[in-house]
Amino acid sequence: QSFGTPASYLVLEKLEQHEHEAVFVGGAVRDYILGKRATDIDIATSAEPNEVKKIFSNTVDVGIAHGTVLVVLDQEPIEVTTFRTEGTYSDARRPDEVQFVKSLREDLLRRDFTFNALAMTKDGKLIDLFGGQEDLKHKIIRAVGVPEERFHEDALRMMRALRFAAVLDFNLESATFEAICNQAERLENVSVERIKMEMDKLFLGSNPMAAFQLFKETGLHKAVPLYPEKMLGVESALPFASVKEGWAFFLVAGGYSASALSQAYKLSNEEKRFIAEVETAYAIRKERPFTVDELYIYDVPVLEAAEKFYRARAMDRSFASFPQFKEEKNKLPIQSPRDLQVNGKDLLKWADVKGGRWTGEWMKRIEAAVLHGRCENDPNKIREWFMNDFNSKK
Ligand code: ATP
Ligand code: MG
Repeated sequence: QSFGTPASYLVLEKLEQHEHEAVFVGGAVRDYILGKRATDIDIATSAEPNEVKKIFSNTVDVGIAHGTVLVVLDQEPIEVTTFRTEGTYSDARRPDEVQFVKSLREDLLRRDFTFNALAMTKDGKLIDLFGGQEDLKHKIIRAVGVPEERFHEDALRMMRALRFAAVLDFNLESATFEAICNQAERLENVSVERIKMEMDKLFLGSNPMAAFQLFKETGLHKAVPLYPEKMLGVESALPFASVKEGWAFFLVAGGYSASALSQAYKLSNEEKRFIAEVETAYAIRKERPFTVDELYIYDVPVLEAAEKFYRARAMDRSFASFPQFKEEKNKLPIQSPRDLQVNGKDLLKWADVKGGRWTGEWMKRIEAAVLHGRCENDPNKIREWFMNDFNSKK
């Protein structure tokens, strides 16, 4: 068993024991054929959700309306989804209703791309109704069925196509490409949450550039919120080190404010903070190289993103000399105020003055003095430095 986990095989076995059909489907099968580790394993079954829940003792209702039950086995969560079609789409967003069906074939027909419509039995037999394996071999993204119709039904699939172009480094089959050009506008009906999820995955792909090019060629970029007009030198910033670095790139390339971008994509607080820091660090880096103060204040990923984007903008690809921010930070006398060998209480003792806002202010001064090497990070040395300065400034 080189595919899936023991628990996932157990789920298939149990479903089959109860006379239901059950197979692995979707991304996990695709990734297995590509020789990649699958992140999540999806199972499709002829059993309806209530039947699935009867068979397994530990289940979570994650999407009953869409036929999905989360089965927890050996502490592993496995999504089990009833064979279904998606009914009609009136708004290019969500199917109006899903319909459970008895055949796997019908279930596979509703899937987006040929390589995502592959299924595998527990004995490793592949069910490939649309030439998914052939397309994987030739690195082709091809819609199942009539592309125009499929993107009309659910416009998010166009984002997914570009996401797979970035992640798998595949090309769009020509009818699929044409259909995206024709349906691009419909992406505007899709919720920003769903767009963001695909964008996140796209940023982490091995070749985001492929997707960025396709955005422009298909016109899909016009339907995406705050898509940067210019991507000058983006190659120098790739691959992105993280999802948030991708968002920071959007910010810098597009010249947006951190709050506008955060709002448009409902970025998490963590992402919001990161892109805001990159925004200020980048503004500094455009003027001059970072000094000790910035090395001290910003985390390595912020410094690296700002430096990369500066070089991307300057079309500077001299990566050999890319600064080693981590090492440079480690060479600083302190990494944070917590590293200081004294605290506010020491100051009170030494100064023999009532406590107040002054202690915080003096701690800041001490921090700066130690950081810039004007005073050693040693309690006695700091005391000496402090007494001297404190008395002279009293
Ligand atoms: P990942 O590796 O990122 O999980 P994935 O292909 O598994 O990629 P999921 O969003 O987990 O993507 O979806 C699982 C499967 O469900 C897909 O492989 C595809 O068969 C089907 N699917 C997902 N979204 C759509 C969609 N919008 N339209 C049609 N089929 C879809
Ligand atoms: Mg998946």
